[in-house]
Amino acid sequence: MYYPTPIAKLIESYMKLPGIGAKTATRLAFFTLDMAEEDVTEFAKSLISVKRDLHYCDVCGNITEEALCEICQDKTRDQREVLVVEEPKDVMAMEKVREYKGLYHVLHGVLSPMDGTGPDDINIASLIRRLQASEIEEVIIATNATTEGEATAMYLSRLIKPAGIKVTRLAHGLSVGSDIEYADEMTLFKAVEGRREM
Ligand SMILES: [Zn+2]
Repeated sequence: MYYPTPIAKLIESYMKLPGIGAKTATRLAFFTLDMAEEDVTEFAKSLISVKRDLHYCDVCGNITEEALCEICQDKTRDQREVLVVEEPKDVMAMEKVREYKGLYHVLHGVLSPMDGTGPDDINIASLIRRLQASEIEEVIIATNATTEGEATAMYLSRLIKPAGIKVTRLAHGLSVGSDIEYADEMTLFKAVEGRREM
């Protein structure tokens, strides 16, 4: 099938998104063609801005427009607790649970020998440095309830506990294999409340 180059390129771009095949990409490309010009411009600007204006927080690895994220800057938050998650989107999910007032650390992945992801490939070294230099008393591990998430939790626990820091794991209100980002507020609240020591 022949498409004019701009459409063909847009289809190619849409196909790079997760879960979008050729058919959907083609539909989206033609939909874009019919959109109002200002909406398309706004969309294009957002795409560029998300890459250009956002980066990872120097301390916790969360996404931010500044050197430090809002959470790390907020001195009213409990500086003694740090909740460890896999991805920045998990921070957003946990923030829905307003009862959690501590800090975060984003690993940007999990340990996965199958995929060749080892401790040096995720944000672990910075967590350890942070623990050495701060008043953190408890590390709450909130990796997902998957095989890799559990293995990562176990690894971190073995690494951190000898330093005399309490290590806890979210309670399994979260079903096995489930992702934190999809859990509802109440489930997350109960998971934090019922966290157990590792
Ligand atoms: Zn931060």
